[in-house]
Amino acid sequence: MPQRTAKKLIREKIERMPLSRFLHEYKEIAGYGTPSRAIYQTIRELVENALDATDVYGIKPDIVLVIEEIGKEKYRIRITDNGIGVDPKYVPNAFASVLSSSKYKFRQSRGRFGLGVKMAVFHAQSTTGEATEVYTSPIGSSKIYYFSLKPNISLTELEEKEPIILAKGVWSKPSNWHGTVVRLIIRGAWSRVRSRIKEYLKMTAIVTPYARIIVITPDGEIIVYPRIVEEVPPGPKETKPHPHGVDIEMLKYLIRKSSARTLKEFLIEAFQGVGRKTAEKVIKEAGLDPNIDPRKMDDKMLEKLAVTLRNYKGFRSPSAAALSPIGANIIKAGLRTIFSPEFVEAVTRKPKAYQGHPFIVEVGIAYGGAIPAMDEPLLLRYANKIPLLLEKSGDVAAKVVKSINWRQYLVSFPAPLVILTHICSTKIPYTGLGKESVMDVDEIRDELEAAIREVARKLRAYLLEKRREQETKRRLITFLKYMPEITKSLLVVAKNTKVKEEEIRDKLIECITRKLGVPKEHVVKMISNYDVKIEE
Ligand code: ADP
Ligand code: MG
Repeated sequence: MPQRTAKKLIREKIERMPLSRFLHEYKEIAGYGTPSRAIYQTIRELVENALDATDVYGIKPDIVLVIEEIGKEKYRIRITDNGIGVDPKYVPNAFASVLSSSKYKFRQSRGRFGLGVKMAVFHAQSTTGEATEVYTSPIGSSKIYYFSLKPNISLTELEEKEPIILAKGVWSKPSNWHGTVVRLIIRGAWSRVRSRIKEYLKMTAIVTPYARIIVITPDGEIIVYPRIVEEVPPGPKETKPHPHGVDIEMLKYLIRKSSARTLKEFLIEAFQGVGRKTAEKVIKEAGLDPNIDPRKMDDKMLEKLAVTLRNYKGFRSPSAAALSPIGANIIKAGLRTIFSPEFVEAVTRKPKAYQGHPFIVEVGIAYGGAIPAMDEPLLLRYANKIPLLLEKSGDVAAKVVKSINWRQYLVSFPAPLVILTHICSTKIPYTGLGKESVMDVDEIRDELEAAIREVARKLRAYLLEKRREQETKRRLITFLKYMPEITKSLLVVAKNTKVKEEEIRDKLIECITRKLGVPKEHVVKMISNYDVKIEE
C-alpha cells in the first residue's frame, strides 16, 4: 500500500466521534434500536418526565397521553401533565440538546440525569424530521410559553449547536393550570408493541394509585386509570453525595461547583456527613495538605483523595432522605386492585447502601384469588417507581426469585403467585441506558433476597393456617356426618326423661368444639351451613 494511502487510512480511523453520531449509531443502547422499541421508549420517557414533574413535588399527577397514527408507521404523541413546568430559559436545551444535561441531583428520580426526552426528540428528528412542540407554564407563573424545536445536530460536527427554535410564543394564562405539554412526531410500530406499552402503563398505575392517567391509543381505545388513593408519598429530598460514591471525575465536577477555598472546606461543604474532624482525618490519611486550593489539585492528588474517600471506614451510612419508597400500603392496594388475590403482603426494608449510594428495597407478594396458576412466579420489577419489562434474564430480582426454593414456603408450581420488587436509589445500577434491568450488585441482591423471604414467610404462615383450617373442616364434617344419627339415638335413650333435643345438640357441639380446639361459633356456623337436620 502506498504510504500516502496508509496515512490517510489511519487518519480516517482515528477521527473523533461526535456524541450525536455515537448515539445515532448505537441507538439500541438508549432503547431506540427498532421502530417498535422506539415508540415504547418514547412513551416511557414522556410518562416518566411527567411523573417526575408531579409526585416528586407532592402534586397528584393528572396525565393525559394521546397517541395518534398520522401516516404509515408515523405517530403523533402528545402528553399533558400538571407538573411544576419548565423555566422557559431552559426549554430548548432540556428538550432538544443531546449534549446538555440537567445538573446532577443527588436524589431519587425516574430519569437518569439527562438523556431521556432528548433521545426521543433526536429520534423524532432523525426519523420524521418534524419539530417537537412544548407548551409549558411553570408553577407560580402567569404565562404559558410555547416552543417549536429541533435539535441542531450534524453527525459530522463535534460541537452541538444551540437547538433551532422554529417558533416561539407567550400568552397570559386564563386559568391557574401549571404543567407541560409535549408533542412530537416519530416513526414507530404501534401494533407490534401495543400490548407491551399497555402492560407498561398498567404496571405504572399499580405503583402510582394516587395518579390519574388517561391514555388514548391509535386504536381509538380510551384507557383510564382513576386515582384510587389521595395521598402522594413524600417526595425525595435533595442531598449531598456520600464520599463513598465518588471517583476522580465526580470530584472534579464537585470542585468546579464548589466555592470552597481549601480542601478541608471543600470536603465539609460538598459531602454529606463530613464534619471538621472527619475531614481532617481523611486528608491526613490521603497524605494531602488540608489548606490546598482544591482547584489546584492534580490528577495524582485527586486519585489519592478519591481512593481514600472510597475506603475510609468512619463515615456514617448514606442518608436515605434522598429516597422515596412507594410504601407497603400502596403496594398492597395496587396489587389488590389489579389482581384480586386471596392473600397480599408487602414490606419496605430499611435503607442500605452500595458503593456510597443509598437504596431501599420493597417487595410485595400476592397469592391465589383471581390469579391464575402459572409455572413460575409472575415477577413485576420496578426501579425508582418505573416498571422494568425487558431484559429480564439478566436482572438481579429475576435471579433471586429463581433461586428461591418455593416449596419451603408451601408453594408448589403451577401456583397463583405474583411477586413485586422495587429498588429505589439515588443511582440504580441499570445494565443499559434503556433502563430495563438492574445489575447484580451484592448488596442489592442480599436485600432483595431478605425482603422476598420476609414476605414469603408470611405467605407460608397464611398457607399453613389455611391448611390447618381445611384439616379441621374435614374432621368437623366427619363429626357432623354422624351427628343426626347420634342425636337420634340419644333421644331414644332419653325418651322418658326431660332432656330436650336442643340440650343434646348443645352438648354435642360442646364436645366437638373441645375435640377440634376451634371456637364454638365456628362449629355452629358449619352446622347451619351443612344444614344438619335431626330426623325423627
Ligand atoms: P431526565 O429526566 O433524566 O432529567 P430528560 O432529558 O428526560 O432528562 O429531561 C430533561 C429535563 O427537562 C428534566 O430534567 C426536566 O428538568 C425537564 N423536563 C422534561 N420534561 C418535563 C416535564 N414534563 N415537566 C417538567 N420538566 C420537564
Ligand atoms: Mg427523563
